[in-house]
Amino acid sequence: MTDHPSPEDAANSADLPGDGGRITIDLDALAANWRALDARLSDDAECGAAVKADCYGLGSDDGLVALWTAGCRTFFVATPQEGQATRARLPDATIYILNGLYPGASEFYAGHGLRPVLGSPEEVAEWRGFIAGQSAPPPAGLHVDTGISRLGLSLDEARTVASDPASGFSPDMVMSHMACADMPDHPMNGQQLGRFREACALFPDARRSLANSASIFLDRDYHFDLARPGITLYGASASQLPQARLRPVVTLESRILQVHELKRGETIGYGATFTAPADMRVAMVAAGYADGYLRASGSTDEKRGADAWIAGYRLPILGRVSMDMSAFDVSAVPPDVARRGDFVELFGANIPIDETAACAGTIGYELLTGLGRRFSRRYLPVRSARGTG
Ligand SMILES: *Cc1c(COP(=O)(O)O)cnc(C)c1O
Repeated sequence: MTDHPSPEDAANSADLPGDGGRITIDLDALAANWRALDARLSDDAECGAAVKADCYGLGSDDGLVALWTAGCRTFFVATPQEGQATRARLPDATIYILNGLYPGASEFYAGHGLRPVLGSPEEVAEWRGFIAGQSAPPPAGLHVDTGISRLGLSLDEARTVASDPASGFSPDMVMSHMACADMPDHPMNGQQLGRFREACALFPDARRSLANSASIFLDRDYHFDLARPGITLYGASASQLPQARLRPVVTLESRILQVHELKRGETIGYGATFTAPADMRVAMVAAGYADGYLRASGSTDEKRGADAWIAGYRLPILGRVSMDMSAFDVSAVPPDVARRGDFVELFGANIPIDETAACAGTIGYELLTGLGRRFSRRYLPVRSARGTG
């Protein structure tokens, strides 16, 4: 499915006649976004990358190499399986497993050079058992919960780990995760920062990692030694702060199947939720919820839904999204602009992904990781490599 078109191919986009749509992933924008975040960090902080869920749905094979080329050396995935795939692609990367240590999987981690971020006393105990007697135990991080209450040891549990001299375990990294960093004024941000400092003081030799994308745009106090941005790399917004959105990376486009009339008073789609207030022209587009174009994006007579875009025109969605298609209003578009076979943009450079997500009551993260498998994917190459290593 993944091919590597030359820049000319990509620009000319010789599309397959069988494609109902295409997902364009701008690897140059991905690399540029990583460099922009890296430049934003305090001087002594390293910028890593969260690449879980197949680089947030973009496709790891290409995404990982683009990030490595940009200079990224430390990668965070959710599962050991994702770690294995990342290792296969990047033999020299440092790879942390955010979901922690899966039961009985220590050998697997060590065999692939994956570092668990140990997230409970049980995981610490199991890892200690595994490394006992090893002269050069493999590194592992430690996750301390500072308020999000998902994974991680409590501060008290972390104190117990730190004060056990016979443990033979010291984390190479101490990590915590922010609950509300997308809301810069939320009081929880400062509280978590304070607790994280306490946790780090227990393990003075470990590197410290707190910041996801949104936290990078808070105060520099949140940067510490190693940042773990995800969503900002992939071009969606991390935060209420407008500067927390960088270059768009993903464009979703789909073909017009037909254009037809909708007479005043006629309804369109399942449930007849939209009634034409006047005579309209409608483009039926080959993207539905099976392609990851969310059903909640639709419109009713009361509620406006998502917009699509073609050649400078915004196209309001009409009625419900169905499995394989959606309807858009092309009444305002000249007939020679929106024709059978033409592509409309569902999100990308002209319709921000955050807007499309908000219309469906969700966030860019969910839209990206839910993109379907029916559309072809093309990857625009990294044009400028300015890696650090
Ligand atoms: C997903 C994740 C990140 C990245 O978060 P973004 O909001 O996408 O920047 C960082 N740390 C942890 C623990 C995560 O689960």
